[in-house]
Parts: sequence; structure tokens; C-alpha cells
Amino acid sequence: MKKISLIFILLFMIIFIISENRRGYYDVNTGQVYCYDKWECLHESLHEYDWEIENGKMRDVRISATNEYHQVIAEYYKKVGEIKEENRTYMESFIYTFPGVLYPLTDEGWGGLHELYAEIFRHTEEYGSDIPNEFIQFYDKEAIYKLWKQYPNF
Ligand SMILES: [Zn+2]
Repeated sequence: MKKISLIFILLFMIIFIISENRRGYYDVNTGQVYCYDKWECLHESLHEYDWEIENGKMRDVRISATNEYHQVIAEYYKKVGEIKEENRTYMESFIYTFPGVLYPLTDEGWGGLHELYAEIFRHTEEYGSDIPNEFIQFYDKEAIYKLWKQYPNF
């Protein structure tokens, strides 16, 4: 009986490790994206766009690390912070409570401004909301779609 439970635990751990490894990512050294479904591929395409100017050339500073982006984030958080929680729009709440900015990182240590940059765009595409006006300037939809189209299940 004990042996069987141990085998199940091991099996579960192996499946967990494999599924963890299958999680998508953008390799900043090679410029290669690894992703396995439509929305994950969009998320990783945004990391790619954040780092790269067209044709794989790297930006001097990634968009989500620029002063302009940080300035807009600071003003946006100030603005939304003054709106009562129950009166916030869906996107306002999503951005305001995003892990790793005012709120803590997730238990897995995920979040922060670079993830927020990718997630604002991905989220609006997946759930059909609009990118808040302040953030539109940081995304070139056409260029992002072009990257996204290279990956599975676009
Ligand atoms: Zn990410």
C-alpha cells in the first residue's frame, strides 16, 4: 500500500515538473519564444516586443523599463487609487491589483512591471476590453500581431 502511494506521489511530481517545463518563456539571449497555446504565445510575444525592435534588433532599454512607462504607471496608480474599489472598471482593478507592483508577487514569485506590460495587452485581447488610453502609446498592435502570428495556435 505504502509503495503504491509513493509511486503515485513520484508520478505526480514528474508530471508537475514536465508541465512546469512546458510553460512558455522568451529567451532574451537567443530572441527565441517558447510557448504552447494562443494566449501564452501572445504573452511571450509581448516580452519579445518589449525587448526587440523589428527584425530582432534589441532596444537600448526595454519599453517596460523606460522612464516614460514608469511615469505612466505611477500616474495611473495614483489616479486609480483615488477611485473607490467598487467603482473601478475591470481593467483598472486588474492593473491596480497586479502582483508585484503595489500588491505582493504571487507565491511563485511572479509579477512586476515587465509582466504587467505583457499582461495589459494580452488581457485586453483575451477578454475584449480596451487598453487604457495612457498605455496605448507603448504598444504597436501591428508589430505585436506580426510576432504573435509566428507561434502556435494564433
Ligand atoms: Zn511573462
